[in-house]
Amino acid sequence: MTQSQNQLALVKERIAKAAIKAERVPSEVTLIAVSKTFDAEDIIPILESGHRVFGENRVQEAQKKWPELRLKYPGIELHLIGPLQSNKVSEAVQLFDVIQTVDRPKLVLALSKEIQKQSVDTKLLVQVNTGREAQKAGVLPEELEQFMNLCRGQFAFHIQGLMCIPPVEDDPRLHFKTLKGMAQTYQLPVLSMGMSGDFEAAIEEGATCVRVGSAIFGTRPKAVTS
Ligand SMILES: *Cc1c(COP(=O)(O)O)cnc(C)c1O
Repeated sequence: MTQSQNQLALVKERIAKAAIKAERVPSEVTLIAVSKTFDAEDIIPILESGHRVFGENRVQEAQKKWPELRLKYPGIELHLIGPLQSNKVSEAVQLFDVIQTVDRPKLVLALSKEIQKQSVDTKLLVQVNTGREAQKAGVLPEELEQFMNLCRGQFAFHIQGLMCIPPVEDDPRLHFKTLKGMAQTYQLPVLSMGMSGDFEAAIEEGATCVRVGSAIFGTRPKAVTS
């Protein structure tokens, strides 16, 4: 086993333990291996060990790696977990199975058009800025109701859940609980929360997707804005 394959196995074990501790079924939690900044050669060992669900935060970077990997490894599910600009919507809908960062009316309209045009079944999550951070993307909590109404009008069944990235200085559990409450309010089944440093807490609070990068691939080679 390579080091990353070994780390993948350890992360899966930790996910299973956290789920069992929370009296949940481990298979309810999807592990998204976040491969941003890593090259195809770093990703291949993870694909070889059978993993198929990955996250990237930039459309252009993902375009360089994934079309070729998809041909070699059937069954890949690719998630966009970084901000999406309206002018990249067409590429994003072509490339990603799930877009986790829906957060503005303009983006909703552009995605809705593009999903129809390409007749695809892209799954969408709404990103919520639970910490109300000025520099962070996401719908503000007080604007969620209006935003959900817009989404439901435009997409009917495509919106599956919510995603958040808690402020680094806060206890993430508070944000996980908030997001869980919101998902219950809108009867959304998918909750994307938890990263390398806090995925066990997220699972205890109800995460159905955890986004784990460095705990699998190691420290990222360069700083990434998200
Ligand atoms: C980079 C990133 C992750 C993974 O972070 P790690 O701490 O390396 O696990 C998860 N979610 C988002 C939105 C990211 O940009």
